[in-house]
Amino acid sequence: MEKEDLTLFRDMARRAFEQEIEPHFERWEDEHMTPRELWNTFGAAGLLAPDVSEEYGGAGTTPHVTLALMEELSRLGYGGIATGYSIHSNIVVPYVARHGTEEQKQQWLPKMVSGEVVGALAMTEPGAGSDVQGIRTTAVKDGDEWVLNGSKIFITNGIHADLVIVAALTEPGKGAKGTSLFLVDTSLPGLDRNPIRKIGQHTSDTAGLFFQDMRLPANALLGELNKGFIIMMDELPRERLGIAAQAIAAAEGALDATVEYVKERKAFGQTIGAFQNTRFKLADVRTQIALNRALYEQCADEYSRGELTADKAAMLKLAATEMQCSTIDDCLQLFGGYGYTVEYPISRFYTDARIQRIYGGSSEIMRELIARTMLGR
Ligand SMILES: Cc1cc2nc3c(=O)[nH]c(=O)nc-3n(C[C@H](O)[C@H](O)[C@H](O)COP(=O)(O)OP(=O)(O)OC[C@H]3O[C@@H](n4cnc5c(N)ncnc54)[C@H](O)[C@@H]3O)c2cc1C
Repeated sequence: MEKEDLTLFRDMARRAFEQEIEPHFERWEDEHMTPRELWNTFGAAGLLAPDVSEEYGGAGTTPHVTLALMEELSRLGYGGIATGYSIHSNIVVPYVARHGTEEQKQQWLPKMVSGEVVGALAMTEPGAGSDVQGIRTTAVKDGDEWVLNGSKIFITNGIHADLVIVAALTEPGKGAKGTSLFLVDTSLPGLDRNPIRKIGQHTSDTAGLFFQDMRLPANALLGELNKGFIIMMDELPRERLGIAAQAIAAAEGALDATVEYVKERKAFGQTIGAFQNTRFKLADVRTQIALNRALYEQCADEYSRGELTADKAAMLKLAATEMQCSTIDDCLQLFGGYGYTVEYPISRFYTDARIQRIYGGSSEIMRELIARTMLGR
């Protein structure tokens, strides 16, 4: 898609998101959940995973378009919805599209584009977050079937998900080399799910999942047996690119709201925007956003060409999410006490931002990864 077309598409998507979300957003935040039908609404409007190829019902665009939709949700301040959208369109869909068999792609992708199927990815467990190699969920072969047992925590889209990609041990004791991925149809018996309440991103559906003797068909295996860890590592750059897209657009949305506010609010006989401190803070925030956006555009182009490296994606995720949190904190400060109230959207930008430095690999894990590429271990 050409740049001008992408801008038009962004504007169209932004209007659609505002129309479908804004009238209900406060209620959904209070309820800590979006309705399941929102996914069908997005699908009917052609807004889910546009980069899926046309033979599976998508629009066959480059990943830039999917990322642009995540940006618009984030810029509008719908941080929780952006995260759910991202897991579905920017993570689960590419896992299936890049690693699924023809039969698996036919089975799942068209329904993920239409919103009939909501996707989730379940790696994290109560005893294994940053250290994914420590997972304990098992999938044991029994005849033609797999029997899944274990629990996962903090799974985005966990309550609504119809399809969960689950990481499980198929050769316990071998860690990463004994881990496989499964396409789990949540309508099968043996799954319990519990919603998890958070301090931000309330509209993001986050859940604990419990698998008890869940029997999966042989064709639920995604990719090769015991190669699940390699697939997860392969897909992390795209996940991190997406989190950076959310971070930068949210910072831009927060800055726009702050500029409007400081032009109106007065203290000591002048607008807040007239104080040199305000002007310098806003200038610094804008500069930080511009620097991160430049790196992001470079990484998005590299990803589209299949050239984005794991360490560069880690640098981008680290820089963009740290920038998001610090710049939104600066913006909130300029709202004074009003910034701390739920009436002003800047407070939601602030609470929604905090998790960005933790999920998808924490800032500390990003630093480890970047250092490892320099030092060799
Ligand atoms: C809202 C939300 C949504 C999420 N969505 C998903 C999802 O859809 N799917 C999924 O699988 N997971 C998801 N997660 C889980 C998320 O990815 C993990 O929380 C994250 O990877 C951190 O793991 P942990 O919480 O177990 O923290 P821990 O791994 O226990 O880490 C605790 C602290 O120790 C630090 N630390 C750990 N190891 C090191 C080290 N080697 N060096 C230095 N510091 C270290 C960490 O950076 C962190 O500060 C989500 C989490 C949340 C809260």
